[in-house]
Amino acid sequence: MPKTGTVAILPGDGIGPEVTEQAIRVIEKLNSDYSAGLECKIAPVGGAAYDQHGHPLPPETLEIAKSSDAILLGAVGGPKWESIEREHRPERALLSLRSELKLFSNLRPAILFPELADASTLKPEVVSGLDIMIVRELTGGIYFGQPRGIKTEEDQTRTGFNTMVYNESEIKRIAHSAFKVAQARDKRVCSVDKANVMEVSELWREVVTVVSSEYPDVQLSHMYIDNACMQLVRAPKQFDVIVTTNLFGDILSDAASMLTGSIGMLPSASLDENNKGMYEPVHGSAPDIAGQGIANPLATILSVAMMMRTTFENIDAADRIEKAVQQVLADGLRTSDIAGEGSAPISTSQMGEAICEKL
Ligand code: NAD
Repeated sequence: MPKTGTVAILPGDGIGPEVTEQAIRVIEKLNSDYSAGLECKIAPVGGAAYDQHGHPLPPETLEIAKSSDAILLGAVGGPKWESIEREHRPERALLSLRSELKLFSNLRPAILFPELADASTLKPEVVSGLDIMIVRELTGGIYFGQPRGIKTEEDQTRTGFNTMVYNESEIKRIAHSAFKVAQARDKRVCSVDKANVMEVSELWREVVTVVSSEYPDVQLSHMYIDNACMQLVRAPKQFDVIVTTNLFGDILSDAASMLTGSIGMLPSASLDENNKGMYEPVHGSAPDIAGQGIANPLATILSVAMMMRTTFENIDAADRIEKAVQQVLADGLRTSDIAGEGSAPISTSQMGEAICEKL
């Protein structure tokens, strides 16, 4: 049975409000035509929240995020807030939301709709139909490990250092997350590490292998990060689900997103242990096109599809959204970022309208 509940909508900065507006239209359509039963609560975040309340994540916004079943975020940041002190920068809101809500599992699909195969820099036959999911550990590893810092030796030489650290329970929970994702897909997980050089990776590989015995229907393989980077651009369709650490996942997921050639098309999810999640497009606030009504809202709309599937277990609604996107693309409708030469692009709200019509 699909679940109903509350969605915190955090539009943020730049094109964030423009693309989330279209996502809200999609949610309203699901409510009115398919009884999805979602209540939206809108709250400020990022630079917009700093301007209004003096903080990028005001307590009221955090409270709404905590008490909701899912969060849909637009994007934060922009030149206006680049010179303010670090703890008040818009991007801090994202880090705080992830840690406050314990969102340790970051899911980034890299999907290439066949209609957009020409948008990639790789040959169409290498990427057409690409559908991979990168599961990145998000709250541990070298970005958080202690000790860290820059120390000055007696001879005034400075040394910078960070620590990559994972305990068994952190590895177990991200492994479970990846195996569960794979069960709903092609049932293959590739765990990416650097076990030939790093002890932390040795433990990672051992624990992932132990967890895999609980998922006999899923096939597990291992790959070193350097080879994974190479394979991702050589033959990306060999992968189904990739599970990896925070650092390796950061790099791999950005590389994977570029295989599709269109940053305006890519959704993401960050989940806690109970599949409560923050859903957001992979792209940023795109200050260069903000306010022009030309941003592509499909990454945010596809984030709604991920939300419906994962948090609300509403597979039908998720499938409907993804199918609507495919049909709109098949009809030749494109925002300017994905429009080829000679075709007339449509606006952000026209794209939202077209998706709602297909729904
Ligand atoms: P960006 O993703 O905002 O933009 C990169 C390029 O892609 C730009 O040319 C932009 O116009 C284009 N683009 C992005 N999304 C698009 C869309 N939906 N439709 C059409 N074109 C789109 O990355 P950036 O320029 O490096 O960063 C701008 C700001 O966003 C910075 O302040 C950065 O810190 C912030 N940022 C926020 C997030 C987030 O909120 N999760 C992520 C990345 C960057």
